[in-house]
Amino acid sequence: MEIKGINMVWLSEVDLTNLNSGEGESNFVDVKKFKKDNIEYPYVSGQAMRFYLRESIRRDLNDNEAMCLPNNKGETCGNIENCINCDLFGFMTTIKDKGADVRTSPIKISPAIGLLPFEDNSNIDFLTRKHRVGEGEKNKGDIVNVEIGTNIYKSGLSIDVRAVGAIEIIKENENSNVPSELEMDFKLKNENERYNRIKKVLNGILSISNYSKQARLLVDFTPDIFAISLQNQYNHRLQKLFILDEDRNLNISRINDILDDVLEYSNDIVIGWTSGIINNEIDVKKVFKDKDIQIFTPKKAIHEVINLINVDD
Ligand SMILES: [Zn+2]
Repeated sequence: MEIKGINMVWLSEVDLTNLNSGEGESNFVDVKKFKKDNIEYPYVSGQAMRFYLRESIRRDLNDNEAMCLPNNKGETCGNIENCINCDLFGFMTTIKDKGADVRTSPIKISPAIGLLPFEDNSNIDFLTRKHRVGEGEKNKGDIVNVEIGTNIYKSGLSIDVRAVGAIEIIKENENSNVPSELEMDFKLKNENERYNRIKKVLNGILSISNYSKQARLLVDFTPDIFAISLQNQYNHRLQKLFILDEDRNLNISRINDILDDVLEYSNDIVIGWTSGIINNEIDVKKVFKDKDIQIFTPKKAIHEVINLINVDD
């Protein structure tokens, strides 16, 4: 089966922390929130999630691999063949006299959305911020209030497999009555390198750690419960798999419906599971088992997916 799309959707439980601050005020660090039916939930922006993933992949680079850093204009090198950053995360660079060179990222990441109401799962902590003072002066400090909360976040990732290491070019037809065609131009000479980069993304998600305020508020924000689909059709359908109610039960009918849909174009769906995150785990696991979908601990699940990619390769 030719894999065209890889989807991953996950839940991650976090202890008290502040993963992404909102606008705040000078002495108040809030948590980014959105409202649904007039109830506030925390979230981590998609931009922040991309940053975490990128830094996670960067930590895992081998000696012969490179990811450029943007210059002071925020521009990157634009070399898809040699730069994992520009290939996977896209870029917009202005080239003198030529205008803009733009690459759309083959990796799409959703914001991480808190599924439990913020008010019921949060607190305001304070810390003192000390200022440097001259000799003989009294130590000064001011109090900063920090909103912190615990929650279960849902997030997702989609990989446009055909676009990794490749660009679409417009092939003009000589006969102007025939519309021009889009053609893939593969920048990577070695197909294995394409899969190597996809593996880096999957491993990267499992090791994200560069989120803010960890010096005092260390938490694990890696996926606890997830599904990954290897699809011969590109779409984002799997992203709707999980609905969690306030008693921490996952909606069984929803999981059934989405899986039935996605199994139409996926030979393989793999589940990663950590116990004790949701309440109705026996019922949820039964849905997967009834559909012959295998469940592993998160790290083993990623290994399984990587093995499947190698076999299909
Ligand atoms: Zn680059």
